[in-house]
Amino acid sequence: MTARAYDPIIAIATAPGRGGIGVIRISGRDLAALGERLFTTSLKPRHAHYLGFNDENGTAIDKGIALFFPGPHSYTGEDVLELQGHGGPAVLRRLLTHCLETGKDMGLRLAEPGEFTQRAFLNSRMDLAQAEAVADLIEASSDAAARSAMASLSGAFSQQVHALDDQVVHLRMLVEATLDFPEEEIDFLEKYQARETLASLQQDLDKILAQAQQGQILREGLHVVLAGQPNVGKSSLLNALAGDEVAIVTPIAGTTRDRVIQQIHIEGVPLHIIDTAGLRETEDTVESIGIARSWAEIEKANVVLHLQDIRAQNDKLDSAIAERLPKHIPVLKVFNKLDLAQGELEQTASAPEQTESQNVLFISAKTGEGLDALRTRLLDIAGWSPATESPWLARERHVRALEEAAIHLQQAADHAAHNDQVLDLFAEELRLAHEALCSITGQFTSDDLLGEIFSSFCIGK
Ligand code: GDP
Ligand code: ZN
Repeated sequence: MTARAYDPIIAIATAPGRGGIGVIRISGRDLAALGERLFTTSLKPRHAHYLGFNDENGTAIDKGIALFFPGPHSYTGEDVLELQGHGGPAVLRRLLTHCLETGKDMGLRLAEPGEFTQRAFLNSRMDLAQAEAVADLIEASSDAAARSAMASLSGAFSQQVHALDDQVVHLRMLVEATLDFPEEEIDFLEKYQARETLASLQQDLDKILAQAQQGQILREGLHVVLAGQPNVGKSSLLNALAGDEVAIVTPIAGTTRDRVIQQIHIEGVPLHIIDTAGLRETEDTVESIGIARSWAEIEKANVVLHLQDIRAQNDKLDSAIAERLPKHIPVLKVFNKLDLAQGELEQTASAPEQTESQNVLFISAKTGEGLDALRTRLLDIAGWSPATESPWLARERHVRALEEAAIHLQQAADHAAHNDQVLDLFAEELRLAHEALCSITGQFTSDDLLGEIFSSFCIGK
């Protein structure tokens, strides 16, 4: 395989700031020549050369290691030159400028974000789902997410999609062949057990889809909104869950006027917890803007925690809030300040053990009582099932493509069930399912999609 010809690109690959080592990476064609010009010696492939990095006048910029990986056996599939020097911003900038100057006549330019990985994809070093996993691995904020990103990067997800797609293609081939011999069309479904094959395909797809949905939760996390009246303990709960002081907690009602977001992890799942301005009727304009925002956050949530003071059950405003919460978003009703009510509650029908149901919980943000149950329940209601824990990470794009493939397989199944004499429609649905699956690994992609995916990468990757 020969790499396609693109401009040579260069970037500082290590994170901005200071570090023990800083790496500059160059990718393109004929980099052996560039290496010779930079170091006045030829670089042996995949050999660590300890060299002086000098400028055009022979003045030392740094001393370090140069590595040359001739294409196609490199990260990008092109020639790759890697310079490892000291990790300081000024020294790396000088080295970068010197390289740019030296490679000017061959068109060397700064790389765009993700451009190295984009080339790896374009040169078939990895498929699109794997390329996305590179960014996800870098972004991963928990052990579980990092492990799963690595599984995707190794191709675990792509392999499942390919295996499924192979079956779709095989079935499609049989139909297409039959279409060419119309006299056989009638017994096609029988002859090739098309209905059974399709049913088992649908089952496999459902399994992958369920895993992808878990993988998406693990990658993108869940948006959890703390909603409720002022002073019920929303900020205190956020702090208790986060384990440090992020939100401002004060005993004056209406202090959290803007939102505070805190990211925490439960079982490796990232939760973006959003503390909102307390919901109530108000004359204060600044506060009412906060309240309008709270409702906007609630609309976007994966789960809403409707926090209430346990001492004020059946409160009218709480009923009004409950009434207004969107019906399509799961809500956990959480009664807080259990510590203050424990004595009183023993005699009443509201004792936790009697009323605690699936979506009602009793906690104390102050003592931490009930928080473990809340954590578990939260993940559960949001659709996280550790039993089917995804071994790979997935993105919304993947989930949508799998859903689309599922729809087309179902439509194919419907045609087959009605025994329509419509093999061409059956074939067409299989074709569409195939296309949806291929979009995951990137066999069919638009420049727009590639731009969207790679522009979110960091520079130098
Ligand atoms: P928010 O307005 O809903 O964010 O409520 P805050 O978190 O600011 O809490 C309001 C007041 O209630 C503060 O004085 C907290 O210390 C107090 N508070 C919050 N949770 C508890 C709890 O579980 N028990 C007790 N005793 N006090 C609490
Ligand atoms: Zn608050």
